[in-house]
Amino acid sequence: MSGYNPFNDVRATIDKAAGLLGYTPSEYEVLKHPERELRVSVPVRMDDGSVRVFEGYRVQHSTVRGPAKGGIRFHPDVNDDEVRALAAWMTFKCAVVGIPYGGGKGGVVVNPSALSKEEKSRLTRCYTAKILPIIGPESDIPAPDVGTNAEVMGWIVDTYSAFKGYSSPGVVTGKPLELGGSKGRKEATGRGVMITAMNAVNALGKKMDGLSVAVQGMGNVGGISAKLLAEKGAKIVAVSDVSCAVYNKGGLPIEDILAFLDEGKKLLKDYKGSAQVISNEELLSLDVDILVPAALENQINKANAEKVRAKIIVEGANGPITVEADEILDKKGVVVLPDILANAGGVTVSYFEWVQNLQSFYWDEAEVNNRLQNIMDDAFKSVWDISKEKGVNLRTGAYLIAIKRLVDTINLRGIWP
Ligand code: NAD
Repeated sequence: MSGYNPFNDVRATIDKAAGLLGYTPSEYEVLKHPERELRVSVPVRMDDGSVRVFEGYRVQHSTVRGPAKGGIRFHPDVNDDEVRALAAWMTFKCAVVGIPYGGGKGGVVVNPSALSKEEKSRLTRCYTAKILPIIGPESDIPAPDVGTNAEVMGWIVDTYSAFKGYSSPGVVTGKPLELGGSKGRKEATGRGVMITAMNAVNALGKKMDGLSVAVQGMGNVGGISAKLLAEKGAKIVAVSDVSCAVYNKGGLPIEDILAFLDEGKKLLKDYKGSAQVISNEELLSLDVDILVPAALENQINKANAEKVRAKIIVEGANGPITVEADEILDKKGVVVLPDILANAGGVTVSYFEWVQNLQSFYWDEAEVNNRLQNIMDDAFKSVWDISKEKGVNLRTGAYLIAIKRLVDTINLRGIWP
């Protein structure tokens, strides 16, 4: 939707929650402005010998509660306001789950699937060198996001370490296990989505068994969410990627679809299983119990929110529902589990990975998953309870918790000088 600015949505959400908490603008104004922003040009020698210059960003929204933390996105639609919004959502997310981080985000305007592996490596390394003055294990710790993965994180570790002159695995999270990654990190965001969905279903007095689920986006977050929800008894009736959506009212063979997509640069439009091909727009309006948008922001907006028929929405993606759409869904009685709670499993296990790197002492997967479960359960309970107590929806409840924690910290630290 042209003219959509997600950072304006972030500011409106902050104002609403801070107003409910009775704060004066001076007490929280700082949260409406990113602390530090870096815009870089990234020249890359392409395989054919030509040079292309890509635009990149790294934004640190807040370091009040700890180092900036947040992923790096490679996508053609990356822009400054998107990165600002994504960085701010990280600040609130880390505060909701109570981990000692602020929020940051980075991005490069590029279609990574059009690059060879060598071109992607050169792009990643040059981008890392350009943002190197502001990242580091104590200042700002990137991670994977849309279009980046563990392999890209490995190149960042190597580049950062080469500049520093010593190995520094703690500069990023979401690394390959061999480079100091954490067991359970790859699955963590999807696992957190599943845990949040289970908690919501229980709190609403239902059972997951047999509930119908549609998932938009079959990348890291959507793919694992679908797999783990299916393991809990849900019936995954529709999934999608950038190419299309596939639908089967009786349920899709999710393991089969994931195995097909794992084979390399495969798209769902080429999947030959027994499913009907529908559009992403149609997937969003299916009559399902649970909808998991796990692709990009601004997917459910003023134009299509009325058509949504799902009873529960679990935001795997960051910002998939606009502020205007949120109000429409609220009126329709849709229960929305907000991104800053529902997809916080990824940053929580990133935090575990960073702790393990700093200690050079590694945990087994059961320990990672148990600790994640406890943190997600506690966060869900506090968001659910405050929402009931204040009579607000779960998104506002989550922001009430996050903003109170942030303003308390700001008050204790004071405004420098
Ligand atoms: P990914 O690159 O692994 O997957 C993205 C998926 O979305 C792919 O299947 C892609 O084909 C699909 N997609 C892209 N454009 C689409 C469109 N217009 N319509 C439908 N599908 C589309 O990315 P990811 O890491 O799974 O991230 C997905 C979302 O989750 C993003 O909003 C990201 O910020 C958020 N998130 C990711 C993590 C993480 O740990 N990776 C953590 C928290 C939140």
